[in-house]
Amino acid sequence: MSTAIRLTGLRKTFGDVVAVDDVSLEVADGEFLTLLGPSGSGKTTVLRMIAGFEQPTAGTIELAGVDVTRVPPYDRDVNTVFQDYALFPHMNVLANVEYGLMVKKVPKAERRQRAEEALATVRLEDYGARKPSQLSGGQRQRVALARALVNKPRVLLLDEPLGALDLKLREQMQVELKELQRAVGITFVFVTHDQEEALTMSDRIAVFDAGRIAQVGTPTEIYEHPSTPFVAGFVGISNLLAAGVAATVLGREGMWSVRPEKIRVTLGSPAPEANERAAAGVIREVVYVGMSTRFIVDLDAGATLIAVQQNSHATSSEVNSMRGQRVTLMWNTEHEVPVGS
Ligand code: ATP
Repeated sequence: MSTAIRLTGLRKTFGDVVAVDDVSLEVADGEFLTLLGPSGSGKTTVLRMIAGFEQPTAGTIELAGVDVTRVPPYDRDVNTVFQDYALFPHMNVLANVEYGLMVKKVPKAERRQRAEEALATVRLEDYGARKPSQLSGGQRQRVALARALVNKPRVLLLDEPLGALDLKLREQMQVELKELQRAVGITFVFVTHDQEEALTMSDRIAVFDAGRIAQVGTPTEIYEHPSTPFVAGFVGISNLLAAGVAATVLGREGMWSVRPEKIRVTLGSPAPEANERAAAGVIREVVYVGMSTRFIVDLDAGATLIAVQQNSHATSSEVNSMRGQRVTLMWNTEHEVPVGS
C-alpha cells in the first residue's frame, strides 16, 4: 500500500515552548490514523502542520510522496474538519457545502451535483435548504464533513470533530464516521484526547506524550502491549505493578500491568490453577457503574489494583456490601504484560 503522509523529524517551537519534538510517522493510503494524547501534547500542532497552517521549525512533510513542507495550505490535497464546524451561518446547507467548489471556480451545475452527492453521503440530502442554526449538533457536524468530502481530498484531517457532542450522539457519530471513512476510502488523520474513541475508530493510534510519539500501533497493540507507563495509564486503566511489587506478586523482574477486566474478584482464598496468579487484598472501594462494577483493591503486597466485573447476576446492593472485605484477585498469567520504561 502506498504512503499518503510521511512526517520526518518534525519539530515545532513557539518561543520557549517545544510543542512538537522529533515526530516521524507514516500514514498509509486509506488508513484511519488517530493522534491520541492529553491536552497540550502537540496533536493539533501536528495536524496544523500537515494542513499547512503552521510551518515546522524543522523536519519535512510529504503527501503522496511529494515534499509539501513549503507548500501553502490551498495547494495541498488535504481538507480539515474542526470541532466548531466553522459553517457560514447566513448560507444554507447546500451553499455551505458548495462553497469550496465555488472558490475553485467549478461550474455551477457540477457544483450543485457534487454538493448534493456529498450531502447524500452524510444522509442529509433533504436538508440542503436549511440554515445551520436549524440543525442539531450532529447534523451540523455532518454538514462540516460533507463540506470537506465534496472536494474529494486524498487526506481528511479531523481535529476533535465530535468534541462538542453529547456522549450518546458522540458514540453514534463514531460508528457513522468510521463507516463513512471505509466507504469513501479517504485517508483520515483524527485528533482526540478520548482513548475510547481512539480504540473504537482507528486502524492505528499514535499516542502523544509531551510533543513526542510514545507509541504507534493498532488499538490492540496499544492496549495489550503499552510500551511505556504513560501509554499504559493514558489508554485504559493501567494497573501498574512496580518493580518491587511485581517481584513479590508475580515473581518477575521490572514493571508489569494487568488490565482490570482480566482480573477476577473472589471471596476467601481459593487455590489458583497452574496458569493462574492469586494476590490477596482488601476491597477499599466499590464503584457501581450499571453494566459493571469497579473494585479498587489494596493488595497485601503493597500495590492497588482495579478489577472490573460484569454485573451479570449481582445487584448494586450486593456489590456495595463487598466494601472492606478480604478477597483474592486471580488472573491468567498470560494477561501479565511487561511495560517498557
Ligand atoms: P489540545 O487537546 O488541548 O488541543 P494538543 O495536544 O492538540 O492539545 P497543541 O494544541 O498542539 O496540543 O499544543 C501543544 C503545545 O504548544 C501546548 O503547550 C500549547 O500551549 C503550545 N502552542 C500551541 N499553539 C501555540 C501558539 N500558536 N503559540 C504558542 N504556543 C502554542
